[in-house]
Amino acid sequence: MALPWKRGGPTGRAHYRAHYLAPCSNLYYIEDDPPERAKTSPTTGMPQLPFKNVISVDVEDYFQAESFAEIVDRSRWNTYTSRVDANTRRLLELFDERGVQASFFIVGWVAERFPQLIRDIAAAGHELGCHSYWHRLIYKLTAEDFREDTHRAKSTIEQIAGTQVLGYRAPTYSIVSQSLWALAILVELGFSYDSSIFPTKHDRYGMPRAPRSPFRVITSSGSLIEFPITTFRVRGHNMPVAGGGYLRILPEWYTKWGIRSVCREGLPIICYVHPWEIDPAQPRLPGRLTSRLRHYTNLSKTYGRLDKMLRSAPFTSFRDSGLAAIAKDFNLYAHLGYQN
Ligand SMILES: [Zn+2]
Repeated sequence: MALPWKRGGPTGRAHYRAHYLAPCSNLYYIEDDPPERAKTSPTTGMPQLPFKNVISVDVEDYFQAESFAEIVDRSRWNTYTSRVDANTRRLLELFDERGVQASFFIVGWVAERFPQLIRDIAAAGHELGCHSYWHRLIYKLTAEDFREDTHRAKSTIEQIAGTQVLGYRAPTYSIVSQSLWALAILVELGFSYDSSIFPTKHDRYGMPRAPRSPFRVITSSGSLIEFPITTFRVRGHNMPVAGGGYLRILPEWYTKWGIRSVCREGLPIICYVHPWEIDPAQPRLPGRLTSRLRHYTNLSKTYGRLDKMLRSAPFTSFRDSGLAAIAKDFNLYAHLGYQN
């Protein structure tokens, strides 16, 4: 892909500077192309959107990440030194400092071992969601295994916290075109929304043809709101931005470029992080070079980058974002040629 300032002519460096690096104190203030639904604030005169951006955390330990699934057997999770409690509490402190409430998608196994952490997250006003029990790729499970795993995780978290869990996020965004059946099961289990579809290309996940803004999907069991992870458009491709490894590993100019582009389109930023991503001191595990590079690059930078992002625009949980209200009906199955 040619970098935008390498194209020359009117779309060269000057164009890049003017459109992507122009001073912008509030990401909701879109200078040249305000989205139609923007309303002007009576106090500031700036356009306002009827939603906030979303910050979400996938609460899992470093040894549960998919990068190490080949070498870390789930039956041995108990033998690793856990760091998820302390790392998640650091995120809670950061969110408290910034006055932000987030969505925390919890691995059921973690909830069982750290119930007080789950209660503390809820007590601080954050939203609790479900991130499966065993953190397995959904497209490698049978529908029955998925149902059982998800039910176990949801009820574990609900019993510990005493609140209802309405949101789901698949491990490694593994709701893809061949595992779309999972959406109907989520409805059956009582979820009202999902945030597992990543409209981009990746070796482990991705549904590049899925919508890039929140939508309501009608499954055979009822409707569900889907909040796709943020992407921006570059020359006909959906580029991932502002979450996980993309926030951590890619240079900051890329994130800035992406989120400005997303804001210009009037779309929300849906950011996600993992507690292990802010922990440079975590034990190093063996594994493939690509897995180690993905997992260990820039661990010392994530916290600062996340903080910067939280200060750049209003962020909150899915529950409080207002995004469900703007989700439009979309026939995902027909769009992807899938038999529902
Ligand atoms: Zn995960």
